[in-house]
Amino acid sequence: MLLKNPLQSKLPNVGTTIFTKMSALAEEHKALNLAQGFPEFDCSPDLQALVDKYVRSGKNQYAPMPGALPLREAIAKKTFEGSGREYHPVTEITITSGATEALFVAISTVVHPGDEVIVFEPAYDSYVPAIELSGGIPVFVTLDPQYDSIDWEAVKARITGKTRAIIINTPHNPTGKVWAASDLQALATLAEEQDLIVISDEVYEYIVFDGRDHISAASVPSLAERSFVCGSFGKTFHTTGWKLGYCLAPGYLTAEFRKIHQFLVFSVVTPFQFAVAEYLNEPEHYLTLSAFYERKRDLFNEAIKGIGFVLKPSEGSFFQNVSYANLSEENDAALAERLTREVGVASIPVSAFYARKTDFKTLRFCFAKHDETLLKAAELLNRALW
Ligand code: PMP
Ligand code: GLN
Repeated sequence: MLLKNPLQSKLPNVGTTIFTKMSALAEEHKALNLAQGFPEFDCSPDLQALVDKYVRSGKNQYAPMPGALPLREAIAKKTFEGSGREYHPVTEITITSGATEALFVAISTVVHPGDEVIVFEPAYDSYVPAIELSGGIPVFVTLDPQYDSIDWEAVKARITGKTRAIIINTPHNPTGKVWAASDLQALATLAEEQDLIVISDEVYEYIVFDGRDHISAASVPSLAERSFVCGSFGKTFHTTGWKLGYCLAPGYLTAEFRKIHQFLVFSVVTPFQFAVAEYLNEPEHYLTLSAFYERKRDLFNEAIKGIGFVLKPSEGSFFQNVSYANLSEENDAALAERLTREVGVASIPVSAFYARKTDFKTLRFCFAKHDETLLKAAELLNRALW
């Protein structure tokens, strides 16, 4: 070893993410990739033309640290229309490098060493490392992937004098659960009572099914006052590779958020910000997304219904979870790998979203794919030996 004083890992329990791992395995075995959550289709040619326009018209130097003003204004407008909350574009909206940066910065802004943060699991994989890098302690509220409702008394029981924040995610990755207005109301009461800061991951805000509404933390006034609301254009415009996201928070939180954001990235990719700002002028560009994905969910679910999985139709997001407990004893990680190698369909084992890798015999399939891919995957799964 080169170093006399060995490098101490800041994240000793972290390896390569399950998404990277399963995508690599899918590639290796030429499997259909219903694992990592990204659309198989391209973004709109109109949006591409806008990027081209802004690249060619000289929008190629640093954007302002909080983001290009037209984009912040467009986000303020759509947020007001969707939630009734007015965020001031100058002091309350920051453009980030994807929701990943927004979440990381929000967590870093809030968490001091020894602070506890309530995390519902199954949880998206970026929350816990961010908490730990700030010296915080994740405190888990564990839910079954098929959960129907939140036991708010159980959440309250996890709160101590050290609890500083709570992270929520609706529509939820991986389960596809969409929180009801009553959940947001219960959260608002709890957060007020216990003086918690809320970090709300709402990247699937425009993907909700069966006539449901997405209820943003921004829409409950007492909650919005103490919340960071994190969003992403990756999901909304099929542009996950652009890593363009945002954070909405009242001025007193945004001021501290920006102190970290400015030294993490300073600002994010300029021409894309102008392009998205202009594209947002037409609400149809995002308000049609739910119907687009609902049809894909139904197509996939119909095609796999004969296999014997237990599936609770996803309420939002672009994920469908299936329980295979009555078909196989195999643990979910082993099964996901076997299906990738032998059947040619990659999925994500939901145990990856639990701190202790709890196996609920559940796989997550991403249905943000071409219809042919979904039907082919279903055909392969129907033929598989269980
Ligand atoms: N939160 C959730 C729940 C997600 O699923 C994702 C990405 N798929 C992110 C955050 C990160 O979003 P982005 O790609 O914009 O960084
Ligand atoms: N959020 C995506 C998913 O859940 C993956 C993002 C990533 O690979 N980091 O599959």
